[in-house]
Amino acid sequence: MTDHRGDLDRHLIEITERYAAHNYHPLPVVLREGQGAWVTDVEGRRYLDCLAGYSALNFGHGHPDLIAAAHAQLDRLTLTSRAFYSEPMALFAKDLAEFVGKDMVLPMNSGAEAVETAIKVSRRWGYDVKGVPEEQASIIVMDGNFHGRTTTIVSFSTDEVARGGYAPYTPGFRIAKYGTIAAVEELIDETTVAVLFEPIQGEGGVVIPEEGFVRDLRELCTARNVLMVADEIQSGLARTGRTFACDFEDVVPDIYILGKALGGGIVPLSAIAADEDVLGVITPGSHGSTFGGNPFATAIGSAVVALLRTGEFQERAARLGERLESGLRPLVGRGLVALRVRGLWAGLDIDPTLMDGREMCEAMLAKGLLAKDTHGSTIRLAPPIVATEDDIDLIITSITDIIEGRHNA
Ligand SMILES: *Cc1c(COP(=O)(O)O)cnc(C)c1O
Repeated sequence: MTDHRGDLDRHLIEITERYAAHNYHPLPVVLREGQGAWVTDVEGRRYLDCLAGYSALNFGHGHPDLIAAAHAQLDRLTLTSRAFYSEPMALFAKDLAEFVGKDMVLPMNSGAEAVETAIKVSRRWGYDVKGVPEEQASIIVMDGNFHGRTTTIVSFSTDEVARGGYAPYTPGFRIAKYGTIAAVEELIDETTVAVLFEPIQGEGGVVIPEEGFVRDLRELCTARNVLMVADEIQSGLARTGRTFACDFEDVVPDIYILGKALGGGIVPLSAIAADEDVLGVITPGSHGSTFGGNPFATAIGSAVVALLRTGEFQERAARLGERLESGLRPLVGRGLVALRVRGLWAGLDIDPTLMDGREMCEAMLAKGLLAKDTHGSTIRLAPPIVATEDDIDLIITSITDIIEGRHNA
């Protein structure tokens, strides 16, 4: 029996590699089921999910409230297009706008589409409101950014693997050093419509800017009449222990970009949220999406907002994150070069002389933990926020065993 299922595992990996393009390099595990923070593979082995779909699964696999909302809507109505109104879209727009404290929202599907939407809105605002000369609008972004995979977005990536080979690139972006307010200030001129940034760089390896950067950026944007556009697709919606990473500095950006966990790990659902003086520049026909704001996704989105409104996930992420940090902290200088933690979100820089990030993830896989390396020797930990204290302790003991095993070898 075990042998038979081992064959299935290998077989599914083989046909994936044979028939699907190689744009990922997955760990050799084939998943079949998920519940809460745990997943099961086709051989019946269980794993603690330490990635949570890059934080799309903040509420865990199969959260009962989200599954119930999805089932109810699935049987009623799934797609209308925005040519017509629907009840879930109406309620979601109100729920999300009120929850984030903005006048209005614009729903899309993937995160990249929401980033593209924020770019379009910023440029349009620049021409219609700020008075930037035609075709001159510039947007300041940060080095080490990750905002998605469209041709425009990779045009301003500083990651050559993500960017290389896709020229010609979209003009109109200037790259500042992340976390350095003077670098941003230097790039602002009368053509600048927005600063697009991640309050914490997730794909960059959970890079947290120095305290004060986000507040200074807010002041600078206000003083220079530039939109502050916060990509909270990965950092937002309870991951950091607050609703938004910007909350740590009591900052409200002009545009929030949301995605990932907004769809509850069930559907792609993204949105931007802004006040009417900004999002009001969008007029009928000037932007849209066939699936954006569909009843199925937005019904789930409203259930997500209801979970966030309780504050339980924010509180839980903060508490579990403290536990994770204090458990891993002793490894710094003893196998870990650096550790960055904000809420239940950690970036671990493994001593590259011990192993690279991929080897670390393979060693974790062997211990029943699923994680993903980012750059070189950095791994990111972002388990579903429904994880238990025992789950967090399992992460700590497993990583400690692996690192101490290599360190002493
Ligand atoms: C994942 C991510 C995106 C892109 O979202 P997709 O849904 O993959 O298009 C954009 N910005 C940030 C910060 C992200 O983490």
